[in-house]
Amino acid sequence: MAVWEIEEIFSDILDRARSLDPVNTRQWFDKLNVTQLDGGSLIIGCPDDSTVQFMRENCRTSFLRASQQVTGHLVTVDFVIDDKDEMGLSSSQPDNNIGFKQNPDYTFGNFVVGPSNRLAHASCIAISQSPGDTYNPLFLYGSSGLGKTHLLHAVCCETRNKYNGAVIQFLSCEDFVNRFIRAIEQGNLAGFQSQFRTVDTLVIDDIQFLSEREQSQEEFFHTFNALYNSGKQILLSADSPPNEIPALEKRLISRFNWGLVARVDPPSYETRAAIIQKKARLRGLEISEEISEYIAKRIYANVRELEGALTTIYAVSMTSNEPITLELAKFALEGQVDAAVRHISITDIIDVVTTYYDVRLTDLQSKKRSQSITLPRQICMYLARNLTKHSLEEIGGHLGGRDHTTVMHACSKIADIEKTDDKMKNLLLDLTKKITENNPT
Ligand code: ADP
Ligand code: MG
Repeated sequence: MAVWEIEEIFSDILDRARSLDPVNTRQWFDKLNVTQLDGGSLIIGCPDDSTVQFMRENCRTSFLRASQQVTGHLVTVDFVIDDKDEMGLSSSQPDNNIGFKQNPDYTFGNFVVGPSNRLAHASCIAISQSPGDTYNPLFLYGSSGLGKTHLLHAVCCETRNKYNGAVIQFLSCEDFVNRFIRAIEQGNLAGFQSQFRTVDTLVIDDIQFLSEREQSQEEFFHTFNALYNSGKQILLSADSPPNEIPALEKRLISRFNWGLVARVDPPSYETRAAIIQKKARLRGLEISEEISEYIAKRIYANVRELEGALTTIYAVSMTSNEPITLELAKFALEGQVDAAVRHISITDIIDVVTTYYDVRLTDLQSKKRSQSITLPRQICMYLARNLTKHSLEEIGGHLGGRDHTTVMHACSKIADIEKTDDKMKNLLLDLTKKITENNPT
């Protein structure tokens, strides 16, 4: 086959793969190269190792199916690092980090900065420019789905680009704990210690996992000291500030506060709209501002859900073969608008409850435990449980990333009050009426 023929087939395969799996479609697919297409084998060249990892993990099946549909043959598919690097990224850097898979989406360039994450973002940039010098340790915290892991990856990526050969260890705290336990079992504590105490940058995600794990805390304490004393960078993330992590040793709390503790808040409306635009472009989609604003109005607690909404809209557009319009977006997210079947969303409930109590959503999502905040929060959970089909996890996610046991506890507490207290009973009726009035079926 001539080169142009191969390229044409490959371009058809790319189109097909995009429609088979919109979630993992990326704009940079355009920049992938065919390294080989013959004898039932397709080998695709990628610019760097993280792209190869991403493709192997997420796109192998869709590319397999796409290749078979386009060529009409059984084709095997593999992804390799392309030496003819056209994306301008350095291709084969040594990977000093065992087991870490850099997500190519999680770069600073793909991160939208707004008031909710400005400090966290700026400090992450600072430590990747000059590890160990500015904020050490850097401790990021905030609810789930607000971009902490994304920033951690971005630091690794940036540090690696700037300091070729720097030894960076990135791992989840769970992984740290498991490796520690394994090292003890295998009598190889020294190996474990030298692996973590000799790095240039240590990044540990979800450090709250150390909670109540005394031996691991002890080990981490020594790792921390060794790195800190030799001026190595430490970057940690958690779901709450150091002093609110349950059963964490005082000496660790104090060390976590030595550098900079930066909070990540839920994004503002403008930031949400900008994130949707960014995510759409990353997937090679063009959506109007009207649509990104519509999504940003409906979903606000969690960036992961924003992405989910975008995927739903894209999937509806692909299956119905219609362009993405505001109408289509509404249809995709709300069900059948025409039939005026509007479903009550958690957002509708939160709107009514926050207005009634004159509290802010951010208060409900915060860790505040005063009665004036706790009660409306629990009422939201109770009403969401009764008026929507959302799971306990999803309800907790809207209210500051609380877990399902918290939601369950809130529901039974409000139900108990309702049984004995007529005032509460009437209030719940009133609120329900307001919510359903706003959302007639
Ligand atoms: P966390 O670790 O805080 O739970 P993640 O880093 O996993 O959150 O983020 C969840 C998703 O939201 C990821 O896909 C991430 O890219 C995206 N995201 C969060 N905040 C932003 C942002 N400011 N800009 C772009 N994407 C974001
Ligand atoms: Mg995370």
